[in-house]
Amino acid sequence: MLVEGDRVAFRGPTLADPRPSDVVDLQGKTLYPAFVDNHCHILPTGLDLQKLHLGFATSHGEIVDAVRDRMDSIDERGWLHAVHYDQTKYGGVHLTRVDLDAISSTTPILLRHVNGHASIANSAALRAADIGDREPDPAGGSYGRFEDGTLNGVLFESAHELVSHRAPTPSVEEMTEAILLAGDRMAELGISCASDMMTGRFNLLQELDAYRMAEERGCRIQTRLYLQWGEVFRKDGTWRSPDMAEALQCVKPRISGIKIFADGAIGSATAAIYGQYSGASTSGSALSRHAKEAGDHTEREVSGQLIYSPDRLNEMVRMADAAGYQVAIHTIGDYSTDLVLDAFERLDDPSRHRIEHAMLLDDAQIDRMARLGCYCSMQPEFLMRFGHSYRRQLGEERTRMLKRFRSVKDAGIPLSFSSDRPIVAGDPIDGIRIAVNRPDGFDPSENLTVEEAIDAYTVAGARVTGDEGELGSLETGQLARFHTREI
Ligand SMILES: [Zn+2]
Repeated sequence: MLVEGDRVAFRGPTLADPRPSDVVDLQGKTLYPAFVDNHCHILPTGLDLQKLHLGFATSHGEIVDAVRDRMDSIDERGWLHAVHYDQTKYGGVHLTRVDLDAISSTTPILLRHVNGHASIANSAALRAADIGDREPDPAGGSYGRFEDGTLNGVLFESAHELVSHRAPTPSVEEMTEAILLAGDRMAELGISCASDMMTGRFNLLQELDAYRMAEERGCRIQTRLYLQWGEVFRKDGTWRSPDMAEALQCVKPRISGIKIFADGAIGSATAAIYGQYSGASTSGSALSRHAKEAGDHTEREVSGQLIYSPDRLNEMVRMADAAGYQVAIHTIGDYSTDLVLDAFERLDDPSRHRIEHAMLLDDAQIDRMARLGCYCSMQPEFLMRFGHSYRRQLGEERTRMLKRFRSVKDAGIPLSFSSDRPIVAGDPIDGIRIAVNRPDGFDPSENLTVEEAIDAYTVAGARVTGDEGELGSLETGQLARFHTREI
């Protein structure tokens, strides 16, 4: 392979008269095209990298020490955020706000659990979120309590979100720094291009500014953006602001599409599935209203949560499609996936749209996806990180059949892999190894070959965002983005 400037100028078995000074000896290593991570969260990855990381801790004492050390670098109006708190690694007893109040009674401190569904707050953080000592539990969440009924600072689900959302949002400059940091980390892993799958979680226009500034300052990865539907359109499908359509057209980096959530997650029993959760913490009744409207799929029992009614989902997909965008839909449960396929089926060209996760699929759904031709992006690393919670919620049998790589691939569905970082570490090589050798408890007949898994993390990933001419295969003319990490 001959590289000239930024591009692959030639590839072939022999090259006439190479200048010896230009020859690079790989010393036996294999050179691979750089990875493409087409479903992740770039800004949140960077923001997490800026926070105190507690993954190392093996005792409460170590956490308290690390938080105390970090206090020095927090300015007066700031919050102290930590991530990867995990009490299950040393006995399972949570820290309480009393432990954190001893560090500061004025600076809000929030330790986010590694599972993303809980956190520990000190009293200042609870006060900042207007939560009283005897606050009743919010819908969809709960507060941990001392024996006398007062809050102990442990926050679950919606209670955790409530407090997290009260923390100050980062400035454009902080966001820019975070994106650059995420770009560094991902480039070190051999990734050259990544899609942010939910741009607009803080403030859409500020985030777009931050991505542009990061690019101008030499972000080490190329970024593609998928904007949250509700940040772009109003309920009636008109643009959120009069100049939105124009503003989005001249955005750099490129906007690749619109993101919609169709359901929740398996771990919290909120993915919309057929049948029941075995360890159900929510009942199937949440679905009854939507299920009545859902046409053919309603004879079966369903559980979990749809984010939108089927009619509303159809409408949202139609509007984003009509505005010219590729639509990427988060759908985990098999019931939800049927409704997403219904929505795609109504469009003139479903094949340009994306299904994200599709964790539970039966044969009929795989046939249907193949017929519609839409892209499917899966995250092999989930099988390793969340296997225990899948088994708890779905039982052994359904868990075995999660993420049917081989069946999806063989049906001719354009399958690509991605990480969904920061909820997992997100090294593509971990993803490839897992796709090739699914962990115990997952059907091994759904394994891919190494070549197929690399393809899903490179050229197939690039194709989804229309980048296959530039990235993913090191064909002549492509950008010379590659790595020599051992796979
Ligand atoms: Zn995601």
